Amino acid sequence: MLKLFRFLKPYRTPIFVIFVLVFFQSMSQLYLPTLMSDIVNKGIINGDVDYILRIGGLMLGTALFGSICAIFSSLISSQVSMGFGRIIRSRLFKHITNFSLHEFDIIGTPSLVTRTTNDITQVQNVSMMITRMMIIAPITCVGGIILAISKDRDLSWIIVVVIPLLLIFIAIVVSKVYPLFKAMQKKIDKINQILRESLIGIRVIRAFNRTEREETRFEEANEDLTDVSIRVNRIMAVMMPGIMLFMNLSSIAVIWFGALRIEHGATNIGDMMAFLQYMMQIMFAIIMASLMFIMLPRAQASAARINEALDMETDILDPAVEKPLGEGKTSISFEKVYFFYKGAEKPALKDISFSASAGEVTAIIGSTGSGKSTLVNLLSRFYDPDEGSIRLNGTDIRDIKQSTLRGRIGFVPQKAVLFDGSIEDNIRYGKPDASDEEILRAAETSQSMEFINSMEEGFSSPIAQGGTNVSGGQKQRLSIARALVGRPEVYIFDDSFSALDFKTDSRLRSALKKETSESTVLIVGQRVATIKDADRIIVLEEGLIAGMGTHQELLGSCPVYQEIVYSQLSAEEAE
Ligand code: ADP
Ligand code: MG
Repeated sequence: MLKLFRFLKPYRTPIFVIFVLVFFQSMSQLYLPTLMSDIVNKGIINGDVDYILRIGGLMLGTALFGSICAIFSSLISSQVSMGFGRIIRSRLFKHITNFSLHEFDIIGTPSLVTRTTNDITQVQNVSMMITRMMIIAPITCVGGIILAISKDRDLSWIIVVVIPLLLIFIAIVVSKVYPLFKAMQKKIDKINQILRESLIGIRVIRAFNRTEREETRFEEANEDLTDVSIRVNRIMAVMMPGIMLFMNLSSIAVIWFGALRIEHGATNIGDMMAFLQYMMQIMFAIIMASLMFIMLPRAQASAARINEALDMETDILDPAVEKPLGEGKTSISFEKVYFFYKGAEKPALKDISFSASAGEVTAIIGSTGSGKSTLVNLLSRFYDPDEGSIRLNGTDIRDIKQSTLRGRIGFVPQKAVLFDGSIEDNIRYGKPDASDEEILRAAETSQSMEFINSMEEGFSSPIAQGGTNVSGGQKQRLSIARALVGRPEVYIFDDSFSALDFKTDSRLRSALKKETSESTVLIVGQRVATIKDADRIIVLEEGLIAGMGTHQELLGSCPVYQEIVYSQLSAEEAE
């Protein structure tokens, strides 16, 4: 929590103003009982109306001043805490956007979402309370005790007895509630997680008739949370009347012993009333401060989660000095590349070496899980290899800026992702300053025209969030168009034709061939038909290169490739 307060730096002046305002607010509150005792002692008892009116006016003025300070301090503190939240959110977001996929694997995307939203709100709310309580509580406690003693020194033994008792009572309650609040936070996380899974997987859940199972799972977590909440509330329900009882008993004690003293002429009514009010103020301050301690654990948990994300440094960094890229069209080479996913025992890629130059098509084929996507992700530097190097025109990609590297690559991911906006917006994503002709050409090459034309608004047709209103194949073609429009020197198609029918697939490939004839092309594919014309086919098996060569060469030499080809041929022939 404290660590996050560094983000309050730009608000030093407003926070100082809040402190000053809160200080005056507490001071005026402390002043009121003294004025009241003056009215009683000197005004009412002597029947001095003038005095009553004068001091009464002063009381009104003091109260008004205190209220104005309170209003402005809460106004400013809410602004500061909102700004505080905004700063952490944008910091965290910026930090996360620099994450490599490793960090996403570790924290998990949904958790990052909660951390950027819910957790920050939590911290933001508590920070507002803390800034105010930090000033109010000590001033009221210390000031109240001093003033109470000055009003009646002999009654102050009541404070000495009552305050420790109150502290013990609160300490007992807090020690019971504190762990429950912590548990509650965990249960809320659990519910969020189940909810997220159920909502994201709703199609699968319905299709497998598992709605009931999900409901039970949710029900259990829900009951768990209810249980804890009820236990917390039970304690709180005892705490509130307990505190009230405590305060009332203390009042009785003050009035009782005060009355005795008044009878003996040792004190007077005004001082006793002031004493009573000071004691109340002290107790309130203590209760408010302890409420803060109850709220703190939740914010603390949130702060820890935010810090965890903020402290996570990505190992994929731009070099301090960018090395120049070799001249000419971009060629790529892998040299003895090994790669492990974090926590995995076996390498996802082993001893991968090959090179590809401009004008060549390199295809990668292999069963699912053989490391095809991993290989192309390494080239985009979503991960860094553990051993070996990947070079662009002879320069290690770790020695050039990520923006330089990715600026040369047109990447079509395995899972096509579209953004909220029109079809045109989505294609333009690949090159923000693309002309209409360029967009049109990309759409034509990617075989998207036929379905774009059939849509009512053509290129301006809206794409829903996540692209749910277009089919899988349409999504793939649009994400191909997005890569094409930037006319990059390296193309990566990660299984990008899998959702296309054979006819569209072959038309798309022949159109692509013309468009990409000057570029280095990497095609990951499952279908032999998609890849068999490639200049070089890499057969991957369990992260190892099982064979490399042309279709004809591999047919003759590579058993893994033969197996893939024959399994597919028979399927096609059978159709
Ligand atoms: P392919 O694209 O050939 O189907 P991948 O490259 O996606 O295969 O995966 C290769 C292997 O790495 C698989 O065994 C998979 O389980 C593992 N893997 C893929 N992504 C991750 C990840 N983010 N974290 C850990 N392991 C992963
Ligand atoms: Mg894959």
